[in-house]
Amino acid sequence: MPPAQAGERAATGQPWGATEPVLHLQDVSIYYGAYMAVRGVDMTVAQNEITALIGPSGCGKSTVLRSLNRMNDLIIGARVEGRVSYHGQDLYAKDVDPIEVRRRIGMVFQKPNPFPKSIYDNIAYGPKVTGMKVTNMDDLVEQALRQAALWDEVKDKLKQSALALSGGQQQRLCIARTIAVRPEVILMDEPCSALDPIATGKIEDLMVGLARDYTIVIVTHNMQQAARVSHRTAFFTAEVDEQGERHGRLVEYDRTNKIFTNPSEKRTEDYITGRFG
Ligand code: ADP
Repeated sequence: MPPAQAGERAATGQPWGATEPVLHLQDVSIYYGAYMAVRGVDMTVAQNEITALIGPSGCGKSTVLRSLNRMNDLIIGARVEGRVSYHGQDLYAKDVDPIEVRRRIGMVFQKPNPFPKSIYDNIAYGPKVTGMKVTNMDDLVEQALRQAALWDEVKDKLKQSALALSGGQQQRLCIARTIAVRPEVILMDEPCSALDPIATGKIEDLMVGLARDYTIVIVTHNMQQAARVSHRTAFFTAEVDEQGERHGRLVEYDRTNKIFTNPSEKRTEDYITGRFG
C-alpha cells in the first residue's frame, strides 16, 4: 500500500472525535527547571491513527512526545503540569509505574540504537526483562521481525550482531524491539532523519501498515512525511510571551488533509508553504 493512502483515509474517514482517544493532553505545560518549554497544550491522540507533530526546531515537539510515556522523567529538572491521560488514567498519578507506562507506550528514537547484541537477542531482551509470559520465544522474535518488515532480510542471520545491519534495517529492528513487548502506542521521534530516502520510504510504508494494530505518534521535521503518512497533524511553534520568554505552543491540530490544504491559522499556512520556519 503506498504511504499516501493513510492521509487520504484521514480525509474521508471518521468525523473528528469518532474514534476513542488513547491519549489526552489537557492544559499541559512542560518545564525544564524554571523554563517553561511548552505551554498549555490540549490535544487528543486517536486509536489506530498516525498523529504527526510538526513545527520549527525548538518548538517543543520532542518535549511533548516524551511527556506521552513519561520519558521526561529521565531528564533531571523536567516537570509536567496539567493532565496527560491514557484511556482516562492520569499517566502521572502517584500509583502509576513509569516502567509499565513505557512498555505500553513504546518509543523509537531518531538515531537507531540497537543493543550490541545479536538480532535475536535485541528482540528477546524486552520480553525477558519485563517478565512477559512467552511460550515460544522463536515465534515471538519472528512475529516482531515480520511486523517490522525485516524478517526476510535477517531470517538467516538472527545470531549475528545487530550492529552489522544497515541504518534502515537497524531502525526497523528498533521498531521490532518495541513491538516485541506488545505495546499499544508507538512514539517515534524523527525516526527517519538519519536515513536515506529509500530506507525512509520503507519505514513510512511500515508505519502505515502498523497503524492497523498500533496507535502511532511521530515527530517529524519533514512536512512531506507528515502529509504522506499521518491521519492528523499538530502544528507547533514557539511564541514569545509578555515577559519575553519563548514557549512552544500548539497552533493548530486537525486532520492532516485539512492542515495541508486548508489550514485555519495563517501561521500554519505560512509554515507549510515555506514562508517561515
Ligand atoms: P523540538 O523537538 O521541537 O525541536 P524540543 O522539545 O527539543 O523541541 O525543545 C523545546 C525547548 O526545550 C527548546 O528550547 C530546548 O532548548 C528545550 N529543551 C529540550 N530539551 C531540554 C533539556 N533536556 N534541558 C533543558 N532544555 C531543554
